[in-house]
Amino acid sequence: MSVARVACRAQVGLTAPLVEVEVHLGSGLPVFTIVGLAATEVKESKERVRAALANTGFEWPSGRITVNLAPADLPKDGGRFDLAIAIGILVASDQVGRGAEASLKRLEFLGELGLGGELRSVRGALLAARAAAAAGRALVLPAANAREMRLLPQLAAFAAGHLLEVCSHLAGKCELPAARSAAGTAGWSDAQAAVQAAAPQAARPPSLADVCGQSQAKRALLVAAAGGHSLLMIGPPGCGKSMLAQRLPSLLPPLTDAEAIDVAAVASVAGAAGLAGAWPVPRPFRAPHHTASAGAIIGGGAQAQPGEITLAHLGVLFLDEFPEFDRRVLEALREPLESGLVSISRAGLQAEYPARFQLVAAMNPCPCGHLGDRARSCRCRPNTRHASSSSPR
Ligand SMILES: [Zn+2]
Repeated sequence: MSVARVACRAQVGLTAPLVEVEVHLGSGLPVFTIVGLAATEVKESKERVRAALANTGFEWPSGRITVNLAPADLPKDGGRFDLAIAIGILVASDQVGRGAEASLKRLEFLGELGLGGELRSVRGALLAARAAAAAGRALVLPAANAREMRLLPQLAAFAAGHLLEVCSHLAGKCELPAARSAAGTAGWSDAQAAVQAAAPQAARPPSLADVCGQSQAKRALLVAAAGGHSLLMIGPPGCGKSMLAQRLPSLLPPLTDAEAIDVAAVASVAGAAGLAGAWPVPRPFRAPHHTASAGAIIGGGAQAQPGEITLAHLGVLFLDEFPEFDRRVLEALREPLESGLVSISRAGLQAEYPARFQLVAAMNPCPCGHLGDRARSCRCRPNTRHASSSSPR
């Protein structure tokens, strides 16, 4: 067989479209080419795959190797196609064994290869596994991503730590462990309760019980939590605005199962693997610095990555030193606050992300921070006071 087809998944926004990795071995001068709108990182996968095959005892096929990532118009980035390319080359050159071609029809592969053949984690594994299951196939993913699968233990997914393990699974010699059992040390197979007991507990958010006094601010927080309102806190530095804001997530109800999957999917796509594996999934609390750019807050970059408002989806976005944020950043918050969605367009790529967050902002009443303070008097000039308290910048 000189053409092998291996299924893989790209990642666009919160979707994981199918990418078919076609590997053709032809005669001619020894050249290795990857075609199909591949980004630089994907082209670099040539070197990783070549080294991984050499270091695991496989033979590099002589002649011309062409790898096509179809559909060709879908932008592709990252090292997520490494494993599928390596498997494609091995199957096309008949190095895996009989039965591998039949197994390929039931499986999808996702993972970045190390030079020694070990599998490294990739972003968006949870969405890829869900999309693969919807297509009736099981996903083979790096063991480092297996923790994300605990939210959807019913999905068929296999966890592998090394290229050789994947090859022996394909050859039918040794079955890979299911991702849900690789995720925890024990107790993943049966009840959800056992799952929870085995998983490391997420750190509890700080609670309002730790706060002495501040009865007015506490009341405002309770009202904001009950009604889902946005909140602006104005007070001198050190009076506890950030401390109170951090306690808002503890007042909100726990995430439902569907919400937890949404939050984990966003964390998985953003590469926040620690958050994606936390159990129970905590409500997000994001506090970006006031120097953050519009792209960092709203989302952007060449691959239309999610921004802070999406990472705060179903949680709290806390903007400390509110007037110090760039005016364009604050204006850009209007639409997501109303619609709960943000769509980001980049060259050849549109992504839509959820952004239903609760906005909590804090600011000083004036640049020195002591306007209206009985203990210390304000030393600001009246015009700077006005600039700080009414319009940003
Ligand atoms: Zn002042």
